Amino acid sequence: MSELIEELAELIVRSNKIVVFTGAGISTESGIPDFRGPDGIWSKYDPEDFTYQKFLHDQEARKKHWQMLAENKLITGMAEPHAAHYAIAELQRLGKLDCVITQNVDGLHQKAGNSPDRVLQLHGNLSQVKCLDCGQRYPMIEVQKWLDRGIEVPECPECQGLLKSDAIFFGEAMPTEETMEAERRSRSCDLCIVVGSTLVVYPAAFMPMYALQSGAKLAIINQGPTELDGAAHVRIDGRAGEVLSQVIARVKERLSAA
Ligand code: ZN
Repeated sequence: MSELIEELAELIVRSNKIVVFTGAGISTESGIPDFRGPDGIWSKYDPEDFTYQKFLHDQEARKKHWQMLAENKLITGMAEPHAAHYAIAELQRLGKLDCVITQNVDGLHQKAGNSPDRVLQLHGNLSQVKCLDCGQRYPMIEVQKWLDRGIEVPECPECQGLLKSDAIFFGEAMPTEETMEAERRSRSCDLCIVVGSTLVVYPAAFMPMYALQSGAKLAIINQGPTELDGAAHVRIDGRAGEVLSQVIARVKERLSAA
């Protein structure tokens, strides 16, 4: 393991435009249930009740949506970032990071210190709520207080419009701008580091492939196999927090020795 840590630290020191791609594995280390895992959110709720179409047209579906969020506060940004999130934020402070591309909706990269304009959220952000009528956004933490007071389906305080959590629903299109920007950044990075993803959910998982096609190096940190293991220049099987905190410590030593 320590040899692989050295190799990745060396790659980071030699790179200047790093794209970090994160999936559910980094969030589960903050205690957030994996949506698709065996004990995940979709093992307790029926995904059929949570489609975008139902949310738009069915008051009962809206009730279920807000009830699910009230019962699972950890997925809405109430969890705390851990060592891996802080290590990625450190990459930005060191001037090495181009951006984070994430499949997660918990907002923990921003909470750990990454600037919001450097976090591309392919599946939206559950720590934000958006009015579908006037576009106004509210922090989920605020809306949770309304739910706690017994409001079943909150509405926009500005225009009484329909409020929806700002994550992408089943049946809802991926955010075009973020997805295009993520592709552009992936194609122009010099190192792509995948953290906590098995790379099976498309189109998100195309990003590391774009990076490879453009000649970037690929590093993968994940517990268990991933779709791109054979193509990775450095492949570390381990917990993201443990691995990345060691890697960043080595990067800083090398940079201060240089
Ligand atoms: Zn509104």
